Amino acid sequence: SRLSAAEQALVARRERVLGPAYRLFYERPVEFVRGEGTWLFDRDGEAYLDAYNNVASVGHANPRVVAAMTDQAARLNTHTRYLNEGLLDYAERLVATLPSELSQVTFTCTGSEANDLAWRVARARTGGTGIIVTSLAYHGVTDAVAAYSPSLGAASPLGAHVRTVSAPSLYRQRDDVGARFAADVRAAIADLQRHGLHPAMLIVDTIFSSDGVLADPPGFLTEAAAAIREAGGLFVADEVQPGFGRTGDAMWGFARHGLVPDLVTMGKPMGNGYPVAALVGRPDVLAPFGQNIRYFNTYGGTPVAIAAAGAVLDEIEERNLMLSAQAVGRLLRGDIAAIGNAAIGDVRGAGLFIGVEIVGPDGEPDAVLTGRIVNGMRERRVLISASGPSANVLKIRPPMVFDAGNAEQFTATLAQVLKENT
Ligand code: PMP
Repeated sequence: SRLSAAEQALVARRERVLGPAYRLFYERPVEFVRGEGTWLFDRDGEAYLDAYNNVASVGHANPRVVAAMTDQAARLNTHTRYLNEGLLDYAERLVATLPSELSQVTFTCTGSEANDLAWRVARARTGGTGIIVTSLAYHGVTDAVAAYSPSLGAASPLGAHVRTVSAPSLYRQRDDVGARFAADVRAAIADLQRHGLHPAMLIVDTIFSSDGVLADPPGFLTEAAAAIREAGGLFVADEVQPGFGRTGDAMWGFARHGLVPDLVTMGKPMGNGYPVAALVGRPDVLAPFGQNIRYFNTYGGTPVAIAAAGAVLDEIEERNLMLSAQAVGRLLRGDIAAIGNAAIGDVRGAGLFIGVEIVGPDGEPDAVLTGRIVNGMRERRVLISASGPSANVLKIRPPMVFDAGNAEQFTATLAQVLKENT
């Protein structure tokens, strides 16, 4: 093993005390002790270019976020059953970033909880019990949400009320992407109905991060959203991955498709690492659940969580991070394509959410080469991962403070690693 004795000891302790459910990144795991902006530092002070962590979206250890949290923590941290003006200020500010119909917020701690709540709300609103997801979607950890997260694999079986549809891929399917996707959704609806199940919702991660990063063509979700609504179900946008400006052209991934969801869930970058997440919806959609069922989430939307979330919005706005994500993302996609290595089958995405499809000489997905690239990048201290149905799509989604210089270093490293491995 190339691990030092100290590193081997940490791996062994981890296995002993955390057990088998935990997974480490990389053939040679890495330990970080500090972060700053788009950099992570190991024990030896070596800097790693972070091109993967979308939670620390406004930068690791962002000073404004840290100050807002520590200041609030030193004064008050309670829950949402007292009046609190800061909570309302933030909620109003958040809904102002969404289409006007989506005007009410419920705060949770995690994206999983937001999706779990969306599912409860959808059932209360529609009376349905069926659900449609894309075939490699991940939506979270609760029992109900894991039952509609096919990316967890065969050991975590889908519910009998769940149907999957292939994610829309312009690269693999080439044309009529939106019409094909809608046809698959209609077939899934019909299959639910044949089994006596009324569809409650179609939920999609609007950048399809675990399905292989699928952004184009803009608008491809519109017909499918109409299809689920025609059948009496809701269209739910899971914005945990694309939300808060990452896609560059808008605050929310669904905007790219020119539609307004019935419900929106969000999390990860919302508090830059502090646990805060939310469900946003139309009042008429939320009412049947909220009027009958008490929902109290002890840590959902505490003053410290809200302080972190407010500072994140300040940073996105004042530093123009959405525009920056658009410009740097475009530059990075162009530069990666310009490497001109035959293993790069496709470069896609939106803003700073980028997928690079790695293929063999036959044009078929090459998961082995993809793994070599991810680990080769790590050896050169650049952090990425991979996803997609064939595990051959490099997943690149750095903190949004990633700049043109970082993009240049990224591309040079990728070019080198490709050269060494092809
Ligand atoms: N939805 C999507 C699309 C996600 O990627 C994730 C987390 N990877 C979740 C939901 C769940 O969020 P959390 O881990 O905060 O529960």
